[in-house]
Amino acid sequence: MKLANRRIFVLLLAQFIAPSPFIAAAPESASASILGRQYIRVADWAQKSGLEVHWVKQDETLQLSNSRFKIRLTVNSSDSDVNGVSVRLLFPVAIRNGAPYLTQLDAEDTLRPILFPPANRPGAKIKTICLDPGHGGNDPGYKVGDKEEKKFTLLLAQELRDQLAKAGFKVSLTRTSDKKIELPMRPELAKRRGADLFISLHFNAFPQKTVQGTEVYCLTPAGAPSSNARGEGAGAGSFPGNRYNDKNMFLAYQMQKSLTKSLAVEDRGVHRARFWVLRDATMPAVLIEGGFLSHPVEGRKIGDPGYRRQMARAIADAVTAYKRQVEQGR
Ligand SMILES: [Zn+2]
Repeated sequence: MKLANRRIFVLLLAQFIAPSPFIAAAPESASASILGRQYIRVADWAQKSGLEVHWVKQDETLQLSNSRFKIRLTVNSSDSDVNGVSVRLLFPVAIRNGAPYLTQLDAEDTLRPILFPPANRPGAKIKTICLDPGHGGNDPGYKVGDKEEKKFTLLLAQELRDQLAKAGFKVSLTRTSDKKIELPMRPELAKRRGADLFISLHFNAFPQKTVQGTEVYCLTPAGAPSSNARGEGAGAGSFPGNRYNDKNMFLAYQMQKSLTKSLAVEDRGVHRARFWVLRDATMPAVLIEGGFLSHPVEGRKIGDPGYRRQMARAIADAVTAYKRQVEQGR
């Protein structure tokens, strides 16, 4: 064997012996308790979900994919990416004996609803949308210079109301003027008005002026921590809104996808929180943080009616996308 040939042979052999980048599912140790939490092997869950798994970077970044989805997971991180949209997991991905694991909660309540959209019972239509412009009256929300959050949440809600009405929805607002509405009253109003979805609208601010982008929140499932530090009523219990864990997540994902794709804003991801308005909602609910008033460019855009119209269109498109998939029934 000539030297060159031998080198090729060794290379081929090395490839043959080297572990395949594809991670095969095996029956043993399919689930594990890590730090007292139930984890399942990513390979097993992926196989069950019709996804192929491989390491993008060995022991660091994983990709799960099929013809419709591309999911990126990172070992020891709660960051994930589903078709280019950032989704914050409840718990970090773990690795044991070289195999990556995901919590049962994330498999069931974070990723599954995105891959397999939940369905309404046959005939149950999504007709009435309750919009909740954040803050109002003596609660201005964030204040940046002369900009008050409460003003822009109402302007966005009014624009969104018009667009949703044009798309054939019945729309109701928790407030139509600069009035304070107590937090528990907001989901209560949605319930009284027979809303099928509840959408709370907010804008953000941060001392560091470079921070920008949109984020969408849905209710934290029982037994998991919220991904923000300022969630009201912290606690890991179950709330009325937890009945809709799967629909909450699917709606939040549709929102963040539509906002980031059509506005070209920074994708700060889908997050979980136990905000009052999400906890007590008796229908699928999300809270949208539409951007940072404190960012010089984004803050200016939020003040622009044309930009708010675009944002309202992105939200209305997400409602329509949600409706189309959830109404298909089983
Ligand atoms: Zn707010």
